[in-house]
Amino acid sequence: MTDALPIVIVGAGPAGIRAAEQMVEAGIRPIVLDEGLRAGGQIYRRPMIDDGRSYRNRYGSEARKAEQLHAAFERLRPAIEYRPETLAWNVSGQERGGHLDMMTDGVHNQIAFSKLLLCTGATDRVLPFPGWTRPGVFTLGAAQTALKAQGCTVGDRLVFMGSGPLLYLVAWQYMKAGATVAAVLDTAPLRSKIHLVSLFARAPRIVALGLFYGAQLQLSGVKIRYGVRPETVIGADRVEGIRFQASGCTQELECDAIAYGFALRPETQLADLAGCRFRFEDRDRTWLPERDALGRTSRKDVYVSGDGSGIAGADAAEIDGQLAALAILNDVGKTVEGDRLRQLMAARARILRQREILENAFPFPRDWFETVPAETTLCRCEEISIGEIRRAVEAGNIGEINRMKALSRVGMGRCQGRMCSVAATEVLRSIRNVEPQETGRLRAQAPVKPIPLGFGGPLDREAGR
Ligand SMILES: Cc1cc2nc3c(=O)[nH]c(=O)nc-3n(C[C@H](O)[C@H](O)[C@H](O)COP(=O)(O)OP(=O)(O)OC[C@H]3O[C@@H](n4cnc5c(N)ncnc54)[C@H](O)[C@@H]3O)c2cc1C
Repeated sequence: MTDALPIVIVGAGPAGIRAAEQMVEAGIRPIVLDEGLRAGGQIYRRPMIDDGRSYRNRYGSEARKAEQLHAAFERLRPAIEYRPETLAWNVSGQERGGHLDMMTDGVHNQIAFSKLLLCTGATDRVLPFPGWTRPGVFTLGAAQTALKAQGCTVGDRLVFMGSGPLLYLVAWQYMKAGATVAAVLDTAPLRSKIHLVSLFARAPRIVALGLFYGAQLQLSGVKIRYGVRPETVIGADRVEGIRFQASGCTQELECDAIAYGFALRPETQLADLAGCRFRFEDRDRTWLPERDALGRTSRKDVYVSGDGSGIAGADAAEIDGQLAALAILNDVGKTVEGDRLRQLMAARARILRQREILENAFPFPRDWFETVPAETTLCRCEEISIGEIRRAVEAGNIGEINRMKALSRVGMGRCQGRMCSVAATEVLRSIRNVEPQETGRLRAQAPVKPIPLGFGGPLDREAGR
């Protein structure tokens, strides 16, 4: 009796919440689970304990949207089965016989689902450089999470580095929070920002906000450098500064923390474990689950939505969550209004067009590994350097990423490649001098995130509702 099984949504961010809302409106009670303590996802992350800060103070220009999404979730709670602090770590079984493996409070639980909607979002995309594993180096997202969720800064005097809209936003948020921003080191050349002119016609608010952050930083005396390549973190045991190249000169800056990143990397491992087909997406420079416009994957009972199916931002994720829910409703035989579908699809398509332009304004540094020395650690879990990977690739005449993993151990550690797979793939591409898609896709392994030692007590198997 597969139809008696629940619909399960993984992820209570903008996509997951809006999907759940749509299902509840149609009379369905989905299970919504999230490894976080409180719903909201990444951008609208909430503190573990309320610290009295206002929405304006915590979320800035996005305060209204954050408040609306949190309120929507609170209204939904009696009508859904919400499981916070629950990690989904594996998907098994075949179509019409799928199971999700979860962990709550260290207890393993397996649930059979009729439909599974993955709204797992994204994490920071990082690349190694000398000193990046030293205490005091953070990802941009982690630095922002410290501000939003813990109400603290990760340093007193910071350098922000990388490429992507978060770079200027987080630097500005730190300045507003009272930290000293020593510099913003943009790895993209200044000329890439010309693309923002064409974005202005489509999304004036986004461009105006970006200009506002940049202008406020500069008016406050923050140095902004373009086309930067880091040489090294300065400091033996902790960050004391950074040495970098910009405009053909080597420069140094003192700081006690560095926050860096290169936009985001979609969390696609559960879709991979479910056996969904993947395709290479040039815009995100990564492999994504194949999906139709509504989020249906190649597996009939698995759907993907939001940033976990391709980076498009929070507004697109809210729309995408609704679209996926409508697809599910349609597929379980409920009536779905065609006009509503078309409106939502048009709104999402508009945002995706803006995303293309943003990608050009904040490009990924494709030549990164031309300057990073061989002794630099690439895989921090297994402590493997770029040189060791290079040697394994050359000795084994490797051209495929999973073969490289087998021979070098890169991606076999605790992070399961979530941290290092982008860099590992880029290194392989640079050695073999091939197009990104030619090196293949690092296959996901369960568990998708670390689970505690001793885990695996009695299995609580849930057949259905
Ligand atoms: C650290 C960070 C900071 C960001 N800050 C901004 C910002 O300031 N401004 C901006 O415009 N955009 C920001 N973004 C991007 C923005 O958060 C996303 O575009 C948007 O949140 C996408 O919504 P989503 O619902 O697809 O995913 P998310 O909001 O990422 O939600 C995904 C949810 O899934 C849960 N999850 C993931 N995997 C599992 C699992 N295996 N088991 C259980 N739960 C799981 C996560 O805990 C999370 O709550 C940020 C992204 C990140 C990663």
